[in-house]
Amino acid sequence: MSRPVLLVTGGSRGIGAAICIMAAQRGYDVAVNFQNSAEAADAVVAACEAAGARAVALQGDMAVEADIVRVFGEAQAQLGPLSHVVSNAGVTGKASPLAQADAAVIRACIDINVTGAILVAREAARALSANSAAADKALVTISSAAATLGSPGEYVWYAASKGAVDTLTIGLAKELAPAGIRVNAVAPGITETDIHALSTGEPGRVARIAPLVPLQRAATPEEIAESVLFLLSEASAYTTGVILRVAGGR
Ligand code: NAP
Repeated sequence: MSRPVLLVTGGSRGIGAAICIMAAQRGYDVAVNFQNSAEAADAVVAACEAAGARAVALQGDMAVEADIVRVFGEAQAQLGPLSHVVSNAGVTGKASPLAQADAAVIRACIDINVTGAILVAREAARALSANSAAADKALVTISSAAATLGSPGEYVWYAASKGAVDTLTIGLAKELAPAGIRVNAVAPGITETDIHALSTGEPGRVARIAPLVPLQRAATPEEIAESVLFLLSEASAYTTGVILRVAGGR
């Protein structure tokens, strides 16, 4: 039996990298998209291959339509028809109250988190619809607990972008269900990745927020990946249109 083929956007670091490696360990072949971190993407590919998977690293900016279309094409040319996609690439932009935020920061966030995520979902709909051989087909989007918390004083534009991801997920799940394609979201709470230092600009953010979480700590990327793998797998065959909150009770 052929292995399922998964494309993960933003698979070079953080949550995306954990998803790629866990998927490879569970029998998927994996296309690892990255934007800037070529070395990190190569390391993820090596880890996937060590787990027995075929894996490729594919550069592309998931805010740019031509890159998104090209990456989907290259993934399928190298690994075969896609059966699963995780739309994970995202940024927050430098934290500030909205009154102090630059339009450029807001636009960059919306470009990748909303327009990019919708275009990735469109390409996923096209690719998965065209794959008549796969037994189970699924798209998982990565939202955030911010979509309902609102992220006051930090990045309300980012929270709003993830609200859009939730709505995209609910609508596309209904649109694609008759074609046998499931669409679900995972909404992580605060998770130990570089996003806080590199995108948000607050290296100490995890330590500051962790005591506010009912479980009293941040998630590991692997704890988020577990829920993504569940929603990709046939273990969730009757689940679609769900936003699975993985936020330690927050
Ligand atoms: P991260 O550690 O900063 O990693 C971001 C990943 O996305 C990197 O692989 C990066 O690739 C890639 N990326 C960023 N912009 C891209 C673009 N335009 N095109 C292609 N790839 C791009 O982030 P993370 O914490 O793992 O976050 C992953 C997802 O989870 C995001 O959607 C984020 O909003 C969401 N999330 C995170 C948290 C958290 O606390 N960490 C909580 C809730 C939701 P390069 O390094 O190659 O540029």
